[in-house]
Amino acid sequence: MTGQNYQAILERIHRDITPWRTAGRVADYIPELATVRADHFGMAIVTVDGQVYRTGDADVRFSIQSISKLFACTLAFQLLGDALWKRVGREPSGTAFNSLVQLEFEAGKPRNPFINAGALVVTDVLCRRFVQAETALVNFVRRLSGVPDIDYDLRVAQSELAHAERNRAMAHFMASFGNLEMPADAVIDAYCRQCAISMSCVELARAALFLANGGVSPANGERVLDASSTKRLSALMLTCGTYDAAGDFVYRVGLPAKSGVGGGIVAVLPGEFAVCVWSPGLDATGNSLAGIQALETLTSITERSIF
Ligand code: GLN
Repeated sequence: MTGQNYQAILERIHRDITPWRTAGRVADYIPELATVRADHFGMAIVTVDGQVYRTGDADVRFSIQSISKLFACTLAFQLLGDALWKRVGREPSGTAFNSLVQLEFEAGKPRNPFINAGALVVTDVLCRRFVQAETALVNFVRRLSGVPDIDYDLRVAQSELAHAERNRAMAHFMASFGNLEMPADAVIDAYCRQCAISMSCVELARAALFLANGGVSPANGERVLDASSTKRLSALMLTCGTYDAAGDFVYRVGLPAKSGVGGGIVAVLPGEFAVCVWSPGLDATGNSLAGIQALETLTSITERSIF
């Protein structure tokens, strides 16, 4: 697939996506996210050999929300290796990203690191290791993307912190099973700040590119993970990266991916590229409606996926 074609394909997707851009609902359980217009659409592909293709709002920053779980998990996996899986599982949950139901039956061990409960355990690992977990994560995505002014949006963080009862309940519940090492409220604070990181499609695609490149970040040559751990993290994205819609997402798109309620989805084709799409209108599972449609079109037109 030549570069010329990727640009033409992105432009075609941008044209054809129009009816989907207003079909979803912007997340409003975090009030600050509800202030974003639903009809934004941006998409960027960054290839492992350094080409960047973009369309629409690909350079507009948005709230990465649960996409931060991918980078936080990468850092925790770097720190703990397989010991991480003593505290977090590796199975799809089949329940909503913010569900509490499995936690009681499964003794406070979350199903995977990409639902809120699992991400809170991951953030606990980072809070234990770093004075400010969110700063460590911000620095990590700055390095991976090569963009030094990426930061979290304090207003979004405060908005979530003021409406975090459910996540607080989850954190305290896991603490009751002994699966948090740091105070629950400190973990919630760091978690809400990390979810509030703002990045654009181009920046996110660059930051995730190490996953398409055997674990080495093409931006700075840094080895982020070894090849085997990269495979494992990508496998988790495939089975768990889009919450309880992971089966349908893989059926339609066929790429490992991570989504967030800000409307972003980042996906990778190993050996080739990372792609990020942003459209804030969500479907009932909390995934970007137009975003999934756009990625499905991309893998259909190019006939490229991991399968
Ligand atoms: N900050 C959000 C929350 O905890 C992230 C959820 C998401 O993007 N799915 O609810």
